[in-house]
Amino acid sequence: MPFADIIGHERIVEVFRRSVRSGKTPHSYIFEGIPGCGRKKTALALIQALFCKAVADDACGVCPSCRKVAGGNHGDIHFVEPLPDKRDISIDQLREIQRELALRPYEAPRKACIMEPAERMSVNAANSLLKTLEEPPGNAIIILLTENAEMLLPTIRSRCQLIRFSSLSPENVRLLLEQSGLSADVAELLAPLSEGSMKRAGELDNDTLVMRRETLLTHLAALDLGRIRTIFDTAEELAGNRDETLESLDLLLSVARDTVYLNAGCTDIVNTAIRPALESFAAGCTLDCALQMLGDIIETRRAIQRNANNKLALECLFMKMAEAIA
Ligand SMILES: [Zn+2]
Repeated sequence: MPFADIIGHERIVEVFRRSVRSGKTPHSYIFEGIPGCGRKKTALALIQALFCKAVADDACGVCPSCRKVAGGNHGDIHFVEPLPDKRDISIDQLREIQRELALRPYEAPRKACIMEPAERMSVNAANSLLKTLEEPPGNAIIILLTENAEMLLPTIRSRCQLIRFSSLSPENVRLLLEQSGLSADVAELLAPLSEGSMKRAGELDNDTLVMRRETLLTHLAALDLGRIRTIFDTAEELAGNRDETLESLDLLLSVARDTVYLNAGCTDIVNTAIRPALESFAAGCTLDCALQMLGDIIETRRAIQRNANNKLALECLFMKMAEAIA
């Protein structure tokens, strides 16, 4: 994947372009960021650009070398991760990779190694890596992926260039999900719940969420202060553990945002799959009350994050909402 296709890390990519163009790329990097934010993809893009001879500061994406990197079968890229039944990356694995890196590259100008998660190197393994980081055999490039660089030995950190990756914005997650083939509606639904990680987005259960959004809307339409049961039932249904409650609130937020849009006369909503139900819900409240609802949901989300009681917080929110749409 060429730099041009990396989404959400433009500044980092710009630095890499310059360094590839100059021909003076550091030997060792630490890429710090949450899993699923694009560290590995960017690492591969950097290696692809270093290997490709067609473009000065990026990969062409079509030459045999680029295609092998993209296909995950380039003989000069080595991956190190804990063995299937092991917690740590062992010293034996480190020795093996050191031997590999010392060999002549098959076809690339240099060898490359991606290690993930680098913080799981045993102390022995980490110590044995120090020498390699100092004098990488054959100009090899070593990229360590970690969630938290502080978990690596200071001696490792000081020998690598640290690149910090931020989490992806919901907008970028949406874009990436659509690129991966999801429908626009489902991508919209998952993006705000992804916590900026494509890994997390992949773990979310689309079908369950689609169903929950429908349940949510049915409950919202039935909220009635005069029938207090409807408030408690809705809270009961949507509260769960802390994460589930936050997930429900994110769904609610997305629905409320669309309600504000519709009430403001804008038809460009995100939850297109439930447009008729949303339109009828929006018809039952004013723009002011939709805005109020949005504020109340955000406030409730904060309260839950500060460890408020999930069910109580939701009950309180739904009472406010019922009052607003009454
Ligand atoms: Zn190429």
